[in-house]
Amino acid sequence: VRSMSSKNRPILAIVVPCLDEELVLPETTKTLGGKLSSLVERGLIDPDSRIYYVDDGSTDGTWAYISELVKSSRQFRGIKLARNYGHQYALYAGLMHAKGDAIISIDADLQDDINAVDEMVERYLEGNEIVFGVRDDRQTDGVFKRWTAALHYWVAARFGIKTIPNHADFRLMSAKAIAMLGEFREDNIYLRGVVPMLGLKSCVVYYARGVRFAGESKYDLRSMLGL
Ligand code: UDP
Ligand code: MG
Repeated sequence: VRSMSSKNRPILAIVVPCLDEELVLPETTKTLGGKLSSLVERGLIDPDSRIYYVDDGSTDGTWAYISELVKSSRQFRGIKLARNYGHQYALYAGLMHAKGDAIISIDADLQDDINAVDEMVERYLEGNEIVFGVRDDRQTDGVFKRWTAALHYWVAARFGIKTIPNHADFRLMSAKAIAMLGEFREDNIYLRGVVPMLGLKSCVVYYARGVRFAGESKYDLRSMLGL
C-alpha cells in the first residue's frame, strides 16, 4: 500500500475476490469501470485509481477473462492465487497488494449497491479511516442464506467476536487501516471481526443488497461455518 496523491484526491483501489465468476465479470467490469470513471470525472479520486480482480483458484474462464481484460484496459489489474484459498484470504491478498490511499472491497456479483461507493469516498474525505457498508435488511436473501447467516453470527458471538450487524465485506479502508491490518498475525483471518477492532475513526453507510444477477452462491453450509 502506497500513498501517492494528496488526500483531497485519493487514489482509490477497488478489490474484488472472484471464484468461478465468468458469468458475472463482463457486467461487473462495465459497472465498476463506469463507477470509477464517474468518480474521476467528479474530481473525487485520482485518475490512477484501479480495480483489482483477485482470482481465487477458479476452474472456469475467470482468469482467461481477467488476463485479456488487463491487456486492453488501464483501469483493471489481475491477481491470481495459486489455488482456492477462500473468500477471506482472496480479499486479504487483494488488500495487501492493491495500491491506494483508500481501498474498497466488494463482491464480484454486484449484490452490494455500487452507488454506495460514492458515499464511502465522501465519508473517507471527511476524515474516516474505515467506512462500513451496512445493508438495510435481508429481504433479498433466501431461506438457506438467512439461516446459515444467523447460525454464523450466533457462533461468532459465542466466541466473543464483536461484529457490526448486517455488515459483511463491503467496506472502505484507508492506507493507514490496511497497514494496521497487516500487523495482525492471524492464521484464520476473519476481516469483519478484525477490522472493527483496529479502533480507527469509522462510520457506516446504508445500502440495499440486491440478488446475485448470474451464477450461484459460492457459500455452502460448510463455508458459512468455516467463516
Ligand atoms: N469468493 C472467493 N472465494 C471463495 C468463495 C467466494 O473469492 O472461496 C468470492 C465470490 O466470487 C464473490 C464473493 O467471494 O465475489 C462472495 O461470494 P458469494 O457471492 O458466492 O457469497 P454470498 O453472496 O452467497 O454470501
Ligand atoms: Mg454474493
